[in-house]
Amino acid sequence: MTNRVYIFDTTLRDGEQSPGCSMTVMEKLRMARKLAELGVDVMEAGFPIASEGDFEAVDSISREFPWVHVAALARACTLDVERAAESLRHAKRPRIHTFIATSDIHLKHKLKKSRQQVLDEAAAAVELARRHVDDVEFSAEDGSRTDPDYLEQVSRAVVAAGARTVNIPDTVGFSVPQEYGALIGRMVQALGDCAVVSVHCHDDMGLAVANSIAAIEAGARQIECTINGIGERAGNTSLEEVVMVLKTRADYYPFHTGIQTEHLFSASEMLSSIITFGPQPNKAIVGRNAFAHEAGIHQDGYLKEKSTYEIIDPRSVGVPEGKLVLGKHSGRHALLARCQDLGFELTRAELDTLYHRFVAMADHRKKGLMDEEIVGLIREGREQAQEAVAG
Ligand code: MN
Repeated sequence: MTNRVYIFDTTLRDGEQSPGCSMTVMEKLRMARKLAELGVDVMEAGFPIASEGDFEAVDSISREFPWVHVAALARACTLDVERAAESLRHAKRPRIHTFIATSDIHLKHKLKKSRQQVLDEAAAAVELARRHVDDVEFSAEDGSRTDPDYLEQVSRAVVAAGARTVNIPDTVGFSVPQEYGALIGRMVQALGDCAVVSVHCHDDMGLAVANSIAAIEAGARQIECTINGIGERAGNTSLEEVVMVLKTRADYYPFHTGIQTEHLFSASEMLSSIITFGPQPNKAIVGRNAFAHEAGIHQDGYLKEKSTYEIIDPRSVGVPEGKLVLGKHSGRHALLARCQDLGFELTRAELDTLYHRFVAMADHRKKGLMDEEIVGLIREGREQAQEAVAG
């Protein structure tokens, strides 16, 4: 079994369909360019039957980025699959992603269909999709709450019908790592080399990344995820987190992705500039404070040897130096080091003045100071010193 893990990005589909995250076709195209640069393996660009905009987004992204696998979502019915196929007609690497719910809860209350009916519709949709494209993915919606015997039966049926990827989503974020890993392991065992097993987790209990990693350990080889973890409700697995877990702990996990991690931060920034909100400041990897060492003791250790408190080099995820925050708990040592990084050689007197201004300013601010503000304080101090001399 290969150790390459495929990154299926659904920022433009699951992410986009959540509150505050709607994107126009132009915005999706701009984001798609960044995702392509990042090196995602598959880009889910929309749900063509849902809207004209989604259809157009899939079509435009397929034309613009012919080297990327572009996926279009479709419920397991003729109309949806045909519409998805049409939106992908210019794609060089089209994927139809068809889904139907398989849990008894969904069958009873939402679909009002029997298990046999759902199984037949799933296989028929895959078969139809295969008449249009070679690359078909099937998702068993609410897979983690589906009877495993039935889930296995459906998975075998869709693979027999031509699906190359079988996705077992934790649609409602209900699963926990060991349990989810065991379920995924069972599906991997059942499907062998016939299909890639994929996972799609939601973060309702904060376990999306942990569940995805457990699934990879159990043999899944595709992770569905989004930039900044956006998506329905509490969001999807965060792309930047799951990728950096595998990269940072390569000593523990023998897996790798094709992601160019130095574009992670700019991808996060771009998404924040398009939708209505950014990641919380303490968000792993891309949050404003993710690499800020504010406490004096931490700063002191960090300045002596980075590895004392830093497990990820911020440059490896593309965080520009200027985004590192200094706060009122930062000591003189840290301030001096930052000034040197910014190209300023300070005299002792200048450092004293700066330090006092810095603490005064940081004291009544909760956010800490960015580099440009520190530069502003240095310049102000120097101007005032000159005026004092001139006066
Ligand atoms: Mn989802």
